[in-house]
Amino acid sequence: MFVLKIGGAAGLDHEALCQDIAALWRSGAQLVIVHGGSADTDALAQQLNHAPRTIVTPSGHHSRYTDRQTLEIFAMATARLNRLLVERLQQLDVPAFGMSGVDGRLLQARRKATLRSVEDGRVRIIRDDWTGSVTGVNKALLRTLLTAGYLPIIAPLAISDGGEMVNVDGDRAAAAIAGALQAETLVLLSNVAGLMRNFPDPTTVVAQLSQAELAAAGEWAQGRMKKKLMGAQEALSAGVGTVVIGDGRRATPLQDALAGHGTTISAAGVQQPALAAVEAHA
Ligand code: ADP
Repeated sequence: MFVLKIGGAAGLDHEALCQDIAALWRSGAQLVIVHGGSADTDALAQQLNHAPRTIVTPSGHHSRYTDRQTLEIFAMATARLNRLLVERLQQLDVPAFGMSGVDGRLLQARRKATLRSVEDGRVRIIRDDWTGSVTGVNKALLRTLLTAGYLPIIAPLAISDGGEMVNVDGDRAAAAIAGALQAETLVLLSNVAGLMRNFPDPTTVVAQLSQAELAAAGEWAQGRMKKKLMGAQEALSAGVGTVVIGDGRRATPLQDALAGHGTTISAAGVQQPALAAVEAHA
């Protein structure tokens, strides 16, 4: 079982990705896909005159400032992307099933009551925020779809305890799904060559990382990479064998990631490469 997260930043080649997904599907692999939508959300927000804003937390994490209007713009942008992926995969004879984490309470989350943001060196409290952290996965729903032979394509929205739609981080949502399904491998495809020791120098990509080294990397990595590493840590802690941070701009991005391109992070005792972990779908 593989879980694949398709990054939402600009630069990924979706056509190459769909071809690669179709090839892996045809080989009999069982697969779940989570996608982002950050670049499309930014573009739509600009068109709707609701310019995107980024929050930097006191601990250095970057996230989108998500007021209610931004949440709905995110829902629109990711819905379009979801439909385009499903359309292309259907053309390639893959029985893709698009949905968001809100549908059937697929992803449950805790809404963040308040967020702390650093602005001009001062900490500000933000209350109109519609983001959350994933607390649960409707495993039975995913299993039902997989058993019926569908390939779920999931947009990273979730439902809170209070029934509110919230935006969740795609990498961490994919990690939660991979953990819930006990996937052997989680692939996080982004628009960089992998985790770089000296970002943005591509000659410093870290090829292999142990779970112990991952904690240290979470300290020195910057910006959005921090969240990806947090997701990797959560997946490994939940029992996923291998996490690959791969380059989504390559001609065969998924196969290359599984063959060891990018950064491969392994739980203790897991052998490489990840491609050995193919399990037949229905
Ligand atoms: P996506 O939405 O594609 O999943 P993100 O934007 O969340 O990707 O994260 C990838 C980004 O992380 C890269 O585009 C890069 O700008 C940033 N980044 C920060 N530090 C590093 C690093 N050490 N190595 C690689 N990328 C990094």
